[in-house]
Formats: sequence, structure tokens, C-alpha cells
Amino acid sequence: MDDCIIVGAGPAGLTAALYLTRYHLSIRLFDCGTSRAELIPRTHNLPGFPGGISGTDLLERMLEQGAEYGVEREEAKVTRIVRQDEGFEVFTEDGQFTARTVLIATGVFNLHPPRMEDELHDAALMRGLLRYCPICDGFEVTDKRVGVIGTGRHGAAETMFLRAFTADLTLIAPDGEHELDAKWRQRLDDAGIEIVEGPCTSYTLSNKRIAVETGVGPLIFDSIYSAMGSDVRSGLATAAGARVGEDGALEVDDHQRTSVEGLFAAGDVAKGLDQISHAMGEAGVAATTIRNYLATKKPLWR
Ligand SMILES: Cc1cc2nc3c(=O)[nH]c(=O)nc-3n(C[C@H](O)[C@H](O)[C@H](O)COP(=O)(O)OP(=O)(O)OC[C@H]3O[C@@H](n4cnc5c(N)ncnc54)[C@H](O)[C@@H]3O)c2cc1C
Repeated sequence: MDDCIIVGAGPAGLTAALYLTRYHLSIRLFDCGTSRAELIPRTHNLPGFPGGISGTDLLERMLEQGAEYGVEREEAKVTRIVRQDEGFEVFTEDGQFTARTVLIATGVFNLHPPRMEDELHDAALMRGLLRYCPICDGFEVTDKRVGVIGTGRHGAAETMFLRAFTADLTLIAPDGEHELDAKWRQRLDDAGIEIVEGPCTSYTLSNKRIAVETGVGPLIFDSIYSAMGSDVRSGLATAAGARVGEDGALEVDDHQRTSVEGLFAAGDVAKGLDQISHAMGEAGVAATTIRNYLATKKPLWR
């Protein structure tokens, strides 16, 4: 029986793996290769990297650092976690494992703009023509012409957040008419934000611009943000009995404990700011809580 099974090798899972192996604990680290960090062309808000670093380079460095202490990423999708008397049974597509504790670090999946082909999506993302996270890279669109694909409270709030970076903003409904109440329409109007009805039917990339076709002719932007929301990958934990909040994120206490004893969560999958620095911080807290929890179950002396 391992001390901890970590599900997910993004910034949260890799940080926890580093801490736990440096506490001389035995771990397994499963990952199915869909980290949101891999989509980052270059992050500029992660402290310690002047000039920024790409998401793939960051993950590679974290894996390399972990390997110094024996961390090994196992390519496998975890399909089920079951609470037992002494810990957990963890199932992958072709294996069954046991651990005293489990850390869920499975992240979230950002929903893509509607009717955008995968190839164009990936090319636009890598060139900064498509973006997902104003907290991360709003600075990069300072005074640029920006479109936001979204509607409702979420789309409107994201557009208002971007208003502190640029005055040239258009909120485009992804499908048909906007779902905006009078209060939000007024707030957007007061901020000088253009509101365009959908649907977004197609997209074209040129050298440094992206065009969105909505039926009123192409709208051309320096960047568009997708404000389509996210799927939180909390299913493994909820099936094991863990509670989620209204936004679908796992509920955790100040020590990253879920509502199930021995089951912890860190990173985007847990409630909190969806950022690398936060994922790393939460993972450090989770790993130390796991260590202290295990110390109540067995001596950890050398
Ligand atoms: C385009 C873009 C730009 C961004 N820019 C920045 C930025 O500049 N600064 C910043 O701080 N943040 C940025 N972010 C956010 C950042 O990527 C996330 O906050 C961060 O990756 C969260 O780390 P995590 O470990 O919680 O989740 P993730 O990095 O998403 O990792 C989760 C891991 O869990 C694995 N997994 C999921 N389910 C299973 C399963 N069932 N079995 C096995 N493995 C599983 C996945 O394969 C994945 O590797 C950006 C995000 C995007 C999309």
C-alpha cells in the first residue's frame, strides 16, 4: 500500500509529488496527458521566470526536479477511486492499486468557442490570437482590440475584468441571442463595450489577427477570449463521496482536505484561483497535511 496516490501531473500534482517524496513517503503519480499548463505558449506571471516560460518547459522542469527524488509519472487514466477501511482502492484502465491517501489534482477543461475546428483552435492559441484566462494574460492585450465569446453573467463579468486592460472590447454571443439582463447590459454599455448577437459561425486567422463571423460580417480582433466556462474534472472525487460547490469545484478546507477522510484536492479542481502559483501553493499545503495525517496512522521515523 502506497502512502499517497496522486491523480494528475500538472503543476499541482507535480508539486505535491516533490514535497511527498522529499518527506520520504511512497507515492504513485498517474497522469493522462491533458494538463491545461501544456496549452500555455508562454506564461509571464509565474514568479521566478523573467521573460516567461512555456507551459511544456515548466512541466518538463518540474518532472526533472521530481525525478531527483524518485518521482515517476505513470501514463494512465484513473477511472475510479473507492474508500476502504484503511485507505483507498484506485483503478486505472488496466490496473488496481491501494493507498492510504489520495490527492486529486485533475484540473479543469476549458470549453472551446463553438464551431471552431481543433486545428485552427490550437494554432490560434499558440499565437495568442485565442486566449482563455484574463488573469493570466490580460496584460498582453493592453490597449488591443479584443473580442470575448460568451454571454450571461460569466461572459459579462469576464469582459468587465478585461476593461481594465483595454477600452476596445466586444462581447459576442456564442449561439444566437445574448442572455444578458438589463442590469448587465447597462453596465457593459456604461463601460463602452460593444454587444454583438451570435451565433459565431466561423473563424479565420491572418498574420496577426483573428476574424469571427457572426452573420453581420467578419469582426476582426487582435485577440479573442473564450468565456464559455469550464468542466471541472471532479467526477472521480464526487463518485467517492466528496462534496462540490455550485461552480463544480471540489470543496476543501484550509488544509486541502475534501469532505472524505484521506482524500485531498489541489489546483484548479479545488475551489480557488485557477493559477499555477495557487495550484503549487495548494499542493504544498495538501502534501504537508497528508504527511501529518499519515503520522497519526503510523510512525514516520527513520
Ligand atoms: C491558454 C492558457 C493560458 C494560461 N496561462 C496561465 C498563466 O500565464 N499563468 C498561470 O498562472 N496560469 C495560467 N493558466 C492556468 C494554468 O494552466 C492552470 O491554473 C494550471 O495548469 C492548473 O494546474 P493543475 O495541476 O491544477 O491542473 P492541470 O495543469 O490541468 O493538470 C491536471 C492533470 O490531471 C490529469 N488528469 C485529469 N484527469 C485524470 C485522470 N482521470 N487520470 C489521470 N490523470 C488525470 C491531466 O492529464 C492533467 O495533466 C493558463 C491556462 C490556459 C488554458
